[in-house]
Amino acid sequence: MKANFLSSVSHELKTPLTSIKMFAEMMARGRVMKVEKVQEYSRLINKEASRLENLIGAILNYTRMEHGTGAFKWEKLDFSVCVKKVFEAVEDIGVEKGLSFKTHFDPKVYVMGDYTALYSLAQNLIENAIKYTNVPGDIEIKVYNEDDRAVFSVIDTGVGIPSSEQKNIFNDFYRVGDEMTRSTKGSGLGLAIVKRVAETHKATISLVSKPGKGSNFTVRFRKVD
Ligand code: ADP
Repeated sequence: MKANFLSSVSHELKTPLTSIKMFAEMMARGRVMKVEKVQEYSRLINKEASRLENLIGAILNYTRMEHGTGAFKWEKLDFSVCVKKVFEAVEDIGVEKGLSFKTHFDPKVYVMGDYTALYSLAQNLIENAIKYTNVPGDIEIKVYNEDDRAVFSVIDTGVGIPSSEQKNIFNDFYRVGDEMTRSTKGSGLGLAIVKRVAETHKATISLVSKPGKGSNFTVRFRKVD
């Protein structure tokens, strides 16, 4: 799995790097004289460099999760408090885009877990809902107690995911090949992180999604008193 991941990482890093080298070489040869062309190529180099930067950030995040139980600081925490914090950090991005939010946070939704890892899980799911929902659109975020489970749901009215793609999207670097995804920034590692964090916390993920209708990602943890 490790060898596989490393070869995927190298491949992902190589693509933007190849573009950067190509444009830089073209300019270095001194054949690009027009100011507009120089500006265009510089912009492209900058764009690809940003992509590299994002990718490296995502990979670092991912490998941090990979260390799993050992590096985790396990504690009893209120999942509502954690998700609320994530929501406060990303709400503006969604509101600015023109999306509307509905939230419900039960008090005392206690789980055993690592705060940073759980924050990352919640952040990836909420950011995806924002990224893959067009305006006008709604996003509902819920954290609640259900029998012996602590439940976290992110429900959007976004582009949705075809059933044939639903198992693939949790794989490393996997992105659906539609127009919405192509035009949206991402590494394809977000849901891989979600899956990994859920596994280390013995939580289950369920996905209900329909293209054109929206998606419901629900994560169920074992509740602690
Ligand atoms: P990315 O960095 O591309 O967002 P993720 O691993 O978070 O990567 O998600 C994998 C793919 O699953 C995305 O590229 C997108 O195609 C699809 N996806 C994830 N979340 C949603 C969602 N809420 N609605 C529609 N598609 C989604």
